[in-house]
Amino acid sequence: MDKTGCPRHEHHYTFSSQTSEMKTFSTGNDRSLKLNKSNSEITIADKGTKKAAVFTPARWASFRLCIDQIDSQLSDLAQDKDVSYCAHYGGGWHVSVTKCFRCVDLRKFYMPKGEMIWKPIRTGIALRLAEWPTLKESINSLHRDNPDIIVTPCFYNHSTPEIIAACPECNP
Ligand SMILES: [Zn+2]
Repeated sequence: MDKTGCPRHEHHYTFSSQTSEMKTFSTGNDRSLKLNKSNSEITIADKGTKKAAVFTPARWASFRLCIDQIDSQLSDLAQDKDVSYCAHYGGGWHVSVTKCFRCVDLRKFYMPKGEMIWKPIRTGIALRLAEWPTLKESINSLHRDNPDIIVTPCFYNHSTPEIIAACPECNP
């Protein structure tokens, strides 16, 4: 990583393994993007620490809609601007980029009963800034190789506030 925090070196994804159970795309540093056999779960995980972010298809689709915003936040961060970004992408999971932590943090939050503010918990993974471009390449590869993964977030199909309120992704 250079001084600005903006990764400039070349990134390659390697198709590291394909078993009958799971398709795995390495994102470097012992981390990988995995798709399970039935295309029902995507995981970004660290082999060493076992930290991970787990996505249902709807959550994954919603997360992908945040990618451009994340890129824009990282670009601001590289210019040393104040960044405080946090977006809910489903099931209580949030992605955040902030000046103090300098990472792309994928983390589950919960809302304590009777409170109005989400709180982060330990479940999740903080991606180093240099890992982000590699992850994006892995995401592109995953979708190129698996065109049948659902790409529509659930909220595109919610027609009433009642349906949204009953959705475990939108209203965990
Ligand atoms: Zn929903």
